Amino acid sequence: MKPGNKNDMYESLGVSKEALDFGRTVEAELYSRFKDIDETAEYNQLKVIKGMQDNCVSDIHFAATTGYGYNDLGRDTLENVYASVFHGESALVRPQLVSGTHALHVALSGNLRPGDELLSPVGKPYDTLEEVIGIRESAGSLKEYGVTYRQVDLLEDGSFDFDNIAKAINDNTKLVTIQRSKGYAVRPTLSVERIGELISFIKNRKPEVICMVDNCYGEFVETIEPMDVGADLMVGSLIKNPGGGLAPIGGYIVGTQECVDRASYRLSAPGIGKEVGASLGMNQPFYQGLFLAPAVVAGALKGAIFAANVYERLGFDVAPNGRESRHDIIQSITFGTPEGVIAFCKGIQKAAPVDSFVTPEPWDMPGYDSQVIMAAGAFIQGSSIELSADGPIKPPYSAYFQGGLTWYHAKLGILKSLQQLLDDGVLKKL
Ligand SMILES: *Cc1c(COP(=O)(O)O)cnc(C)c1O
Repeated sequence: MKPGNKNDMYESLGVSKEALDFGRTVEAELYSRFKDIDETAEYNQLKVIKGMQDNCVSDIHFAATTGYGYNDLGRDTLENVYASVFHGESALVRPQLVSGTHALHVALSGNLRPGDELLSPVGKPYDTLEEVIGIRESAGSLKEYGVTYRQVDLLEDGSFDFDNIAKAINDNTKLVTIQRSKGYAVRPTLSVERIGELISFIKNRKPEVICMVDNCYGEFVETIEPMDVGADLMVGSLIKNPGGGLAPIGGYIVGTQECVDRASYRLSAPGIGKEVGASLGMNQPFYQGLFLAPAVVAGALKGAIFAANVYERLGFDVAPNGRESRHDIIQSITFGTPEGVIAFCKGIQKAAPVDSFVTPEPWDMPGYDSQVIMAAGAFIQGSSIELSADGPIKPPYSAYFQGGLTWYHAKLGILKSLQQLLDDGVLKKL
């Protein structure tokens, strides 16, 4: 291997000339798309720096607090930065919000009361929320506390079913939950603009209803965010986009003062709210992760678009397709066979900086009705802003792919997946 030679380096990582050349041909056609992504990242980078400057972020804010965490200046300032960047009046950004699901549960249960109704006008919410809401029977669900739930599915073509949404809004409707990302469902991801149209429609009929957006996987993909189009609350996970790969835990809730305060009384206790919650040394990675997030999201988006174009050219169904505009970082590829999904995930694993030597296998994961295979070689357990892939072993045999802290890693992952499909005989040639 000649030092400094990129082709040799790819070869040493097990990428053949055939796979590399195929990838190059595809990449060469994507430069104008990549330029647009860089433009968005540039704007978002400035937006984050402006938020940090406006709040006079200083190295004193990186100090850790313990115990109750009263007067945690770093935590309070970080929450002001989130409120500034995402245009809310207030925010909760905490290691005590242990996941995206927890943050969503805190926002919902803090703002709903017995007798209230929750409405999802965009179809079934993310799997883990089914038990939070009580769609699937579960101890401690909102349903047990007397909160009812109504759902209006998207129309066949992915548009909003405005007639039935209007009918579903009633005297009890208190909160509307709008999921931006398709997650693992087959529906389009919503652009922030479309979320705005939906919020306007709902507020025209009932101005006092709270509109909450599940923003998971959507942060920094566009130059505007849900608060810019009338949302009252937006919620997400710090081990996805806004943690920039550095946050080792955490969730956030941004919104109006009233909605965030109510969530805070659920997170800690009534009367105490935002005043407690030691930051335990997490402030510095939370700030730095937010600072890096626009660039990290840009890398993940380039990887998703590269994957879409590589696999579309090979004749597989991909969603979104190779040319569509993007509103989250998730890419699905339908292989049509178990062997395809398995080879793809093996390839992604082989590209990882961590645990590249292990082989992912399908297994009976609790809560799923089929075997599932997962590939992740991450620095933070379960982090899906890092390069990761998974797929249920059932028709139509699709793999879901997301993340990549850098574009170069995402690219290597896709090239390794191609190589694995060749090596396993799923693809005869490129
Ligand atoms: C990931 C995700 C969640 C849940 O987040 P966890 O951190 O996995 O609990 C909720 N909604 C959507 C759309 C997601 O992508």
